[in-house]
Amino acid sequence: MFLVGRSVALASFGTRSHFGFNYDKQGRDWTVEGGQRQSPIALWSCNTVSCNVPKLELVNYNKRLCDPLSVINNGLTVLMRIPNTVEGKQPSLCISSEFGHVFEAQQLHFHWGSELFKGSEHNLDGRFYDGELHIVHKNASFKTNQEAALNCNGFAVLAVLLRTPEVGKCRQL
Ligand SMILES: [Zn+2]
Repeated sequence: MFLVGRSVALASFGTRSHFGFNYDKQGRDWTVEGGQRQSPIALWSCNTVSCNVPKLELVNYNKRLCDPLSVINNGLTVLMRIPNTVEGKQPSLCISSEFGHVFEAQQLHFHWGSELFKGSEHNLDGRFYDGELHIVHKNASFKTNQEAALNCNGFAVLAVLLRTPEVGKCRQL
């Protein structure tokens, strides 16, 4: 699980289908602005740097969400908007609450690659996983997605690399 800031990528998300967006060339053929904060990211454990980072806290993630929940196939991904909890709170990701950085969960979606290049969006030590779950959070300081997309701290995406179980090793319920 890792955290990716991606205001530029989200800003361009709605136009991807016009370009036949895919990961066949791992982003080398994309025509998007930005560059320093653009996906996909190759994470190399040999390049990791140890440092103290603000604590991440998941708030209201363990609460029941309001019904009905709906999953949408929008032609690019499978997506689910994340509603409030039954208590009227939004599940959130807090990054060091002493600074008040609260990111509210908006939606989750999946990445599984294309026909030519299957797998996760990002890779770890050159290895692509079978898929990737993204939980998109918007900085609560910004009222709209458009406003948030103009700021480098507008969004926080929690990414979970997924691996399918090996055949014959599925756990019995
Ligand atoms: Zn994503």
